[in-house]
Amino acid sequence: MSIFPRISLKPEVHEHLKNVFLNKELVAAVGAVEAELRFQRLLLCLSHPPAVTCVRVSTHLEPRERIQGRLAERLRQEGCCGSPAEQGSLDMVPHPQLPDVLLLPVSGPRPVAPLPSELVVGAQCGNAVLRGAHVFTPGIVATPKFLQCGDLVSVFSDLEGSCCRGARSFQGRKVFLGNGVSAVNRSSVFCPEPARGVGVRMVEPLYQSPSFDGVLPSLVFLQNLPSVVVGHVLGPRPGERILDMCAAPGGKTCHIAALMGDQGEVVALDKIRSKIDRIRQNARTLQLHSVRAHCFNSTQAVSSEPPQEAGGPPFPPESFDRVLLDAPCSSLGQRPNMAVAGSLKEIRSYPPLQRKLFHAAVRLLRPGGVLVYSTCTVTLAENEEQVFWALDTFRCLSLQPQEPHLGAEGMLGAGLSPDQRRLVQRFSPELSWGRSDAAASLPHRADGDSIGFFIAKFLKS
Ligand code: SAM
Repeated sequence: MSIFPRISLKPEVHEHLKNVFLNKELVAAVGAVEAELRFQRLLLCLSHPPAVTCVRVSTHLEPRERIQGRLAERLRQEGCCGSPAEQGSLDMVPHPQLPDVLLLPVSGPRPVAPLPSELVVGAQCGNAVLRGAHVFTPGIVATPKFLQCGDLVSVFSDLEGSCCRGARSFQGRKVFLGNGVSAVNRSSVFCPEPARGVGVRMVEPLYQSPSFDGVLPSLVFLQNLPSVVVGHVLGPRPGERILDMCAAPGGKTCHIAALMGDQGEVVALDKIRSKIDRIRQNARTLQLHSVRAHCFNSTQAVSSEPPQEAGGPPFPPESFDRVLLDAPCSSLGQRPNMAVAGSLKEIRSYPPLQRKLFHAAVRLLRPGGVLVYSTCTVTLAENEEQVFWALDTFRCLSLQPQEPHLGAEGMLGAGLSPDQRRLVQRFSPELSWGRSDAAASLPHRADGDSIGFFIAKFLKS
């Protein structure tokens, strides 16, 4: 068992990523040693959570300061911050450039000793626990034979998904996440109708960050910082018609609607039917009425034929003032992520799909409209190379400056000019990882130590 593994990748994926980070142009510019160091830092930081929790607040409902006060009070009441000494360190910082963001420092890794009694959760659940969540019962895959409600247990994450559901112990690759108190008996976890809700309340998590489950649901929304930046960069205005082409679960859709003061229309498409309810549920919870969610394949969202349902897709060309293409991607910037199950073939399947979506996006945008393209991955092929391709393919598109611009410039190696690289933003956690200077403290830290992310903004002439 390893306590802090680097992200585990298939050898072919490791080699592919290494080639991205040690590409000829980059090595010539920064040197082979620095390029290799950045790559190694990337592998390390991807398995750790970002140093800051980013909370987007509903400024369409209440001013940020009031929400901040209510949130601090609520988290104190719930004892979300551990011991009284730790509660004292609940500094919530308003983001200096994002008027709807509060930042909370994450403390960790903390020195927590594992207990003899072990409970194992799936990797996805484990990643949520590292970001401050309690263990939800459906995420549990193994418990001690006689687990009772109230037992103290150590929680481990199954890195490779190899633990059989219902096991009593597990010797495979796992990582320690901290200690908690069980809220369930073993029999209520592994039965035909398993319990839902919290299964283990974390009392000594390795990474301490408040659990926001059920906390002021209409006012606070957990969202990675670069995702919030996307909404601001798109710059929606009240009364506009906006398309979010790949929208589920709707974090950015709801942000766009909030930025418009809920006036206008935000059309949210996703091709997976089961995810549409999440978009609608999020919009309801955040009290947003301008969101219209539809299940649809966005590569086919443009047509002059009449739609299947009134006001729904497909749409005639030039139907929207702004389009967000938050593309399906290899997600290699997500943190924490201790193991990538995907193959190189899967990673290589994304650029062609992103280009199909891009074609539809450009057609659906009115002349003079804004298109934002974003991904949560770190490869060149899904980011800078797509921008290079788009500028070459769609002569009506031009790259635009972004506001705010918090990320680094685009990576070398995709053929973009220095000016073009300065116009895109790449959130590169490996560039700030391990820094101990003043810039490593809040609020600056939030801009560097985020997930890996990419944003490009275009204007259609
Ligand atoms: N924008 C979302 C948010 O901020 O909450 C996250 C979107 S996620 C990166 C990509 C989404 O694209 C997934 O929900 C996936 O189901 C959807 N998707 C993939 N291919 C699609 C297609 N052809 N048309 C529409 N949606 C698609």
